[in-house]
Amino acid sequence: MRKLLQNELPPTQKARTYELKAQAIRDFAGLESDDEPLNPFALANYAKLLVASFDEILPFLSEETKRILLEEAKNSWSGGVCLKPLPDGRKLIILNPTHGENRQNATLMEEICHVFLGHKPSKLIISDKEMKAREYNPKVEEEAYSVGAAALVPYTALRKMIHQGKTSKEIAQHFRVSRDLVEYRMKVTHLWDEYIKRNKDKQDTQNT
Ligand SMILES: [Zn+2]
Repeated sequence: MRKLLQNELPPTQKARTYELKAQAIRDFAGLESDDEPLNPFALANYAKLLVASFDEILPFLSEETKRILLEEAKNSWSGGVCLKPLPDGRKLIILNPTHGENRQNATLMEEICHVFLGHKPSKLIISDKEMKAREYNPKVEEEAYSVGAAALVPYTALRKMIHQGKTSKEIAQHFRVSRDLVEYRMKVTHLWDEYIKRNKDKQDTQNT
């Protein structure tokens, strides 16, 4: 693994820890430079995840279920994982087909991180006849999301692109993630102020 220098890591201890774990995942994926986009679908197999396309499960769903999953509740779920492994050891994951590629990449990356970070799912919580399936505890969820986001948008590449004057939209397109994820990364790595300043400068020059 390439050793990261002090100035190649974000300023806070927490963000550094996430960055190092994310870098290990990128190294494992065989990415050579920090600005190379990571494709989670190519990594899923190594995390023993079988990504089923929603079309494949469609024949097993009732009209009512389809309507709920794809219309009424389409913003209430991003993906689903079957916690019991299949006979070949892989876990089945289904991604919300109404979400664009950008959101699917972040959802899948989070699931991959749970596996690589060795998170153990917590038990199903059943209350009032209702099954509340909480997969992991909030601390572990935060780690998986943060490491996943850092693997998708590495700090050094993000900093370089900000210096080049790129917008969050352009950076998002490059890494195939949402603009929200890029701006979240700017904030947690303390690059946000610089990004705003540069964009303001740019607008000022354009206006003169
Ligand atoms: Zn999760």
